[in-house]
Amino acid sequence: MNGHFGEHGGQFVAETLVGPLEQLWETYQQAREDSSFEAELQDLLARFVGRPTPITRLRRLGIEEYGVTLWLKREDLTHTGAHKINNAIGQALLAHRLGKRRIIAETGAGQHGVAVAAACAHLGLDATIYMGRVDAERQAPNLQRMKLLGAEVHLVDAGTATLKDAVNEAIRDWIAHPDSTHYLLGSVVGPHPFPTIVRDFQSVIGREARAQFLDAVGQLPEAVVACVGGGSNSIGVFSGFLDDEVRLVGVQAAGDGSGRMGHHAAPLLYGEPGILQGMRTYLLQDDDGQVLLTHSIAPGLDYPGVGPQHSHLKDIGRVEYTTCSDDEALAAFQLLSRAEGIVPALESAHAVAGALRLAPELPRGSQVLVNLSGRGDKDLTSALAAIALREEHIDEPA
Ligand SMILES: *Cc1c(COP(=O)(O)O)cnc(C)c1O
Repeated sequence: MNGHFGEHGGQFVAETLVGPLEQLWETYQQAREDSSFEAELQDLLARFVGRPTPITRLRRLGIEEYGVTLWLKREDLTHTGAHKINNAIGQALLAHRLGKRRIIAETGAGQHGVAVAAACAHLGLDATIYMGRVDAERQAPNLQRMKLLGAEVHLVDAGTATLKDAVNEAIRDWIAHPDSTHYLLGSVVGPHPFPTIVRDFQSVIGREARAQFLDAVGQLPEAVVACVGGGSNSIGVFSGFLDDEVRLVGVQAAGDGSGRMGHHAAPLLYGEPGILQGMRTYLLQDDDGQVLLTHSIAPGLDYPGVGPQHSHLKDIGRVEYTTCSDDEALAAFQLLSRAEGIVPALESAHAVAGALRLAPELPRGSQVLVNLSGRGDKDLTSALAAIALREEHIDEPA
């Protein structure tokens, strides 16, 4: 059946959304078979998004002693600064086909909101963005950018005022206006067909990276590493290597590193299968099925669920899932900046930290590809404050 990944996925939605989801799936399948849609998408990816993004070899990370080389796939170099634009521009084009001029979206880090606002401005659509108030405070520049791009931004105070709550508000809006509005979901989550559509639009990352790697190195990487929030940048890069003998490693947020519920955002390690926002997947919930609080210094990873395909890839053992803490991510954020001249998003810093941890385990001569999902400009204020706070604690006499 469509939209199932093993026992995960599906479509657990209000009756009013069944029709719009069916229409979306039909229209999407037709579009993918239409060469004019494909041509228009390729043109936008090349001339608006800035694809293909390069792969960059790193030389000064301090892991040379293990004989391991890291490469980055540079999604930070896309227009608007993260992989989110690949999906936003694809779905905005799809909204045109659906005859829907009003777009709604949720945003956590603000990157998806910015990507949607930019794609909508470019294609002449109206954008309404839902964002948790806590996230808006952590990501003020992105809030300003969305407004400048002409989007209407609604701040959400419910729950923890973060991504999950913004998704709930967007779903509520969609249920009220299913005929005029397209919900431009930002990750490989939610009811069928979103996990499939978003994956397909993000799979350009893996297709490009595989060809670029073969071209530059003459072989495939030993391992591919990416951070996993909802799971879209990771599934995008992994999908290029699923059929190869390549280790795939997904890094979730360990938060403060204690492993205690409420202090991390790692449903693939600490969660149980359940139903959240229209899908069956691993999620963080208590014995009564209440969704639990999450914490990560990276707002894009601060989510209690994960895309259903990741849950399946975990069940079948094709992808290894691990975690990195806030501290490890901050260290990688500084290291990549100073040693290589690249300021990563805090989300992406989790992937870099995961790769650094993996390096000593790998055979000498191994090549590792890390998906650098975004750039760190949006995180400067919060990351520098967190680093300063940690340095103060170190300086304090015991
Ligand atoms: C949103 C975001 C993520 C997390 O989302 P995924 O769907 O897991 O990719 C990771 N990195 C950056 C830079 C983001 O903006």
